[in-house]
Amino acid sequence: MGATTASRNLLGRDIRSVAQALENCYGRPRLGNPRDPIDDLVYVMISVMTTEPSYRRVFKALKASFPTWTNAYRAPVAMLRAVLKPAGLSRMKARALKAIFAALRHRFGRVTLSPLATWRTAPAEEFLASLPGVGIKTSRCVLMYAFGRRVFPVDTHCLRISRRLGWTDATALTARTAEGLQTVIPEALRFGLHVGFVLHGRSVCSAKTPQCSACCIRQWCRGEGRKYHASASRS
Ligand code: SF4
Repeated sequence: MGATTASRNLLGRDIRSVAQALENCYGRPRLGNPRDPIDDLVYVMISVMTTEPSYRRVFKALKASFPTWTNAYRAPVAMLRAVLKPAGLSRMKARALKAIFAALRHRFGRVTLSPLATWRTAPAEEFLASLPGVGIKTSRCVLMYAFGRRVFPVDTHCLRISRRLGWTDATALTARTAEGLQTVIPEALRFGLHVGFVLHGRSVCSAKTPQCSACCIRQWCRGEGRKYHASASRS
């Protein structure tokens, strides 16, 4: 029991230190996520399996093509698909967005997520995750960026870096992994750690060739970065 408490304290201290180091490196940017909840849901949905410049451009094109999301809901799926094409997976994304818009109209009488502002976090997350094609990561992104809730969305960068830091053993993005990581991260640190991990994963801690010698959190790394930290400490 003593050891468990000690290791929990150590982990807590590491988490706070890593959060601070990442914030010093990257700040706390919103990564372009819109503040309007339905805009943000669309933004996150189209970001799947594509690059940031591409999904940012396609989101702009969608907003220009459809003045409201009700217009997009009423448009033929082929029209939606044509605008989505540069972001890839346009068939899947167009169908998912149409199905989401339909589900929101059915639930709220219009294409909106605004009513969730007054919901508690757990039911709001459950509702979002019940929408077609929406998983726990997307739900938590919308809750965090658009509703300001203190949740921790786990994407591929967050999982990879958390594993290298020794915060999780998980290798797959499952609901259990997401829950486990969110539980160990204090609420006040969740936003900063999420955006810090995303930016760090894109620029330094890549899946195949992490740039450990240039890493601002290598002293807490239990993965590839350990040897760089050890040699830096000796010199
Ligand atoms: Fe990633 Fe290397 Fe930094 Fe560890 S030291 S977090 S593996 S870049």
